[in-house]
This record gives sequence, C-alpha cells and structure tokens, in this order.
Amino acid sequence: MRVIPLGTSSGRPTVARHVSGLAVDLGRSWILIDCGEGTQQQIMRSPLKPSRLAAILITHLHGDHVLGLPGLLGTLGMEGRTAPLQIVGVDGIGRWLDVMCDLPILGIDFPMTLTELVDDSLDGVAGEPLHVADVDGFAVYALALRHRVPAFGYRIVEPDRPGHIDIDAARRAGVTNGPDLGRLQRGESVIGSLGEVRPAQVIGPQRRGLAVTVLGDTARCDASVSLAFDADLLVHECTYANADQDLAERWKHSTPADATWVANQAGVGHLVLNHFSTRYDDPSLLLNEARTAFVNTTLANELAPIDVPAADPT
Ligand SMILES: [Zn+2]
Repeated sequence: MRVIPLGTSSGRPTVARHVSGLAVDLGRSWILIDCGEGTQQQIMRSPLKPSRLAAILITHLHGDHVLGLPGLLGTLGMEGRTAPLQIVGVDGIGRWLDVMCDLPILGIDFPMTLTELVDDSLDGVAGEPLHVADVDGFAVYALALRHRVPAFGYRIVEPDRPGHIDIDAARRAGVTNGPDLGRLQRGESVIGSLGEVRPAQVIGPQRRGLAVTVLGDTARCDASVSLAFDADLLVHECTYANADQDLAERWKHSTPADATWVANQAGVGHLVLNHFSTRYDDPSLLLNEARTAFVNTTLANELAPIDVPAADPT
C-alpha cells in the first residue's frame, strides 16, 4: 500500500497547493479520499490510472473536499467507463449527485453504489469503527469526527498476510528448491527429500494486514484515536500552528499538538500532516512543532508517494 497526496491546502487552493484529495494505492486498484477542485488534473500528473479507481470516500460536504467530484465523474463517463464505482460519503451526497445526473451536467452510464453515513452529534466520541465497504479485498471502516458539519475519517485495512517461511527449517526438512518453497508459502504440502512437509512445519503465524487511517477535517477527538489505533500510517489534518489553537477550536480543526496527541494515543507507526491553512507559506513550521511530540512525523507533499511501512520489520 502507498498513499499519494493530491491536494494539501485547506479551504482554497494557492499557486503552489491544491485543495483536498488523497489516493490510497492498493496495488491493482486505488481509492480516492476527497475530491476537491483540481483533483482530476492532479491524478493526470500522478502514476494513478483513472480506469483502476475503485472507490471514492468523501469525508464531509465542504466545497474544498467535493467540488472536483462532478468533473472527475464526468470525465470517467466521457472516457466510456463501464466498471462499477463505489462511493461512500456523508448523508446528502446522494441528493447532490442525483440533481447533477437529472440535469444534463453529468453523462454517467457506469454503475455507482452509494453508501451514505449519518452523524448528528458532531462530537467525535470514541467508538468501534463502522465497516462501510470492501474494495479489492481491503476493508474500509469509518467513524464520525468532530467538525462544524458531519465529517468522517476512514481506515483502510489490508487482509492478513501469510507468515514468513523459515528457510533453515525447510532445508532441514529436505525442501531446497524454489518452486516447492513457493507451494509451502501458498499453503500446499510438498514432498521433500526426507518425505512430506506440511506448511505448518515451516511457515510462521499469519501477519496482520497493514492499516492506513486518513482523517477528514476534525478537531482533536477520541474518535480519531479509535480509528487510528495501532495503524501503520495516520494522515491527520493540521490546519493551524500551535500558536493558533484558538482558530483551530473555533473552526474545529487541528494543530500539531492535536495531531501528535492522536498519534501518541493511538500508537501509530508514522504520522503524516496534511491540510495546511493558506496563512502559512511554508508548512515546515507545523512539522517542526509536531516533531517535538512525535518524532516519526512528515508533511504531505503533493504527488510524492508515501510507502506504508511493513507491519513488522522482518
Ligand atoms: Zn477542509
């Protein structure tokens, strides 16, 4: 898995940055999280193939997160897409898409499945993330966060992976050739020079699949911790610097102190800051503040892929 930020600016674009859009590349397909204005051109500048886009997850219905959606869907329709597309978003997105499909704005012939999420509380309480979609074998979970309007974060989880093969144990059991090692790894028994060898003799326990959590706009909240718990990568919005905490609270956004609090509480492997206010020409100020509290922090850079680290170092 890898993550490719497409837009990192909060509220409106700047000459150097685009508004929200972020791709999670699953290998054979990819997921788009939010689709601000300009996202489809950013996709063209990236290695992502529009034909392999399998799902779009929308965090909330503020314009800087959704106004690129009609343009992208229209282009997919114009290019003759026939493959189905899953859309998960906040309650109301269906009405908006219906209006555009009823009017001659969008010419879409491909099937879309829509899942709408409801949140009336806006307070981002801790809870069990909701399983909202399956994309190419990856499970997608959502939980309501704490913003001025209903807003959700998403967690994308890879299926559990087979355990590592113990090459020395396989050799001792009389298996030395590559194809037989491959069969053992796929769960098949083989006949070695000393007799039958079963996978359980040489393959370690299943490894937990990688988990990536991407939060939409939110103030600090416990729901973010629930959603990011033990994740390999957390992409957290960081709209304001610590000195602008009053603005963060007023507009229900986050600072480096908020994002690192979530990263520490959740025990994530890597924190990426995203969604920077246009008041900061250079978001490295935010990075420096965050690193004092969570060392393994980096900034989202548009079109710069972020590899998701392995769940274990072996
Ligand atoms: Zn925003």
